[in-house]
Amino acid sequence: MYMSQLYSPTLRETPSEAEIISHKLMLRAGLLRRSAAGVYAFLPLGLRVIRKVEQIIREEMNAIDGQEVLLPIIQPSELWEESGRWSDYGDEMFRLRDRQGRQFCLGPTHEEIITALVRSEVRSYRQLPLRLYQIQNKYRDEMRPRFGLMRGREFIMKDMYSFDRDNEGLDESYWAAYHAYKRIFERCGVDAHPVEADSGAIGGDVTHEFMVLAESGEDLVLFCAECAYAANAERAEGVREPGGTENKAALGALETVPTPGASTIEQISAFLGVQPQDCIKTLLYVADGTPVAALVRGDHNLNEIKLRKLLNCETLDLADDETIFEVTGARVGFAGPVGLTIPLYADYAIEHMQNAVVGANSDDQHCVNANLDRDFQVTAFADLRITQPGDPCPRCSGTLQGARGIEVGQVFKLGTKYSSAMGATFLEENGAETPLIMGCYGIGVGRTVAAVIEKNYDEDGIIWPLSIAPYQVIVVPVSMKDQAQAEAAQRLYDELMAEGVEVVLDDRNERPGVKFKDADLIGFPIRVTIGSKSLDKGEMEITLRRTKKKISVPLEDIVPTIKGLIKDGETL
Ligand SMILES: [Zn+2]
Repeated sequence: MYMSQLYSPTLRETPSEAEIISHKLMLRAGLLRRSAAGVYAFLPLGLRVIRKVEQIIREEMNAIDGQEVLLPIIQPSELWEESGRWSDYGDEMFRLRDRQGRQFCLGPTHEEIITALVRSEVRSYRQLPLRLYQIQNKYRDEMRPRFGLMRGREFIMKDMYSFDRDNEGLDESYWAAYHAYKRIFERCGVDAHPVEADSGAIGGDVTHEFMVLAESGEDLVLFCAECAYAANAERAEGVREPGGTENKAALGALETVPTPGASTIEQISAFLGVQPQDCIKTLLYVADGTPVAALVRGDHNLNEIKLRKLLNCETLDLADDETIFEVTGARVGFAGPVGLTIPLYADYAIEHMQNAVVGANSDDQHCVNANLDRDFQVTAFADLRITQPGDPCPRCSGTLQGARGIEVGQVFKLGTKYSSAMGATFLEENGAETPLIMGCYGIGVGRTVAAVIEKNYDEDGIIWPLSIAPYQVIVVPVSMKDQAQAEAAQRLYDELMAEGVEVVLDDRNERPGVKFKDADLIGFPIRVTIGSKSLDKGEMEITLRRTKKKISVPLEDIVPTIKGLIKDGETL
């Protein structure tokens, strides 16, 4: 490719729409352009990178017996009614009607489509296991699309679905995908750590997310420095510490005190001169129509996912003002466990609290010296809080540390969630009709590219790992007006092309500084500079993008040297 013809409009200035480095660099290097919020057009260089990542994914999926399919983007509502997700999915789903008024969505994910596809064809255990995957656009109407390819409304995903006859088979599929994912991210040149995660709206139990640790990450990852435990903070387990409240003698007398206008933990602790960890937050929810209360320590936050799992409910919503008044007799901000008659679920940390400050269930009043057992009882203790850095490790005696992470992939065990709901069954050897056991496995292709950039850049631009660079080499004659340089550059370009090297020749009549800046910004791993002085000495100069190392190479060795560098690509 000649640089003069390449459609790669580079920008000197960072567009104001970009907040994080990968987004800025992808716009500046001319890899993509925004069409609408969270919707992007890929330009030639951007698409080449995407295609390379896809190819790596394809090879690794094929290696674990995945078979590639291409499922429709437009999906009929009937299938989503069958799984129960047409109403559950909410505003994130792009919905549309055809001219007959039938309802469809733009697929946010493909469990329904694939389950329907397989149920009509798979009849016997002999047809299992089956692993089908696709690389396809997904559509989610995100509330806040942002960060370029990190959180878009249209994005490219690889999704694989496994169908097995039993849980042992599912285990095999799950771990095959898990290990394939490790290879995929390694080959893309980025460290992605598998961490325990929550399964969210997709359903199922066991799941791992693959996280690239980076400041710009939207997720908080907690990991233990002493053992291998790592989890998304939204899923990380809280620890039930042994012992209860030790010193019963020190219990103060329960007392109601006025706290006018102080309804948040910050306001109350400031008003009463206590610490947030001396207060109990009482949060009122309505679970499947029934009011319940959840208690967490004042400096902790409730994890709704954990509460929802504990209650095993279909719907869980924060109680509205009216319900709060009915249940407590007070405005929002003054609920407390003393005297409440609805079920109370308390986080483990509540077990160890003494002389706590709690809402008095009366406007502008709190109770001090509230004590468990004496003043209030709880229905059950459970792990209900959002685990945070500094908390004890649930696996060993270590302490959890926090880091920001970008989720680039996820593997789930779905079990029979979709196959049962949608009647996808097969006949066992003994003739029994059994639901298929499913797993699903996703990789965000664009997000992986963004994550690679987040980990591979410097002040001059992108530093592509050789494996996914849009082109491996750029040849830069210092002056195209110098005939010897222009001819040497063309000759080298032709030779590299003949050797199958992916190369760009910067044939523009630009100053060398402009050419070098573009080469660095786009991030070609290998640059060959051709100047008069080196040509006179019978040499060309190779510059490695990552290390900026320069090597002078005799003309006759230049092609073998470049080929050698590409072969040992890991070290670039
Ligand atoms: Zn540990």
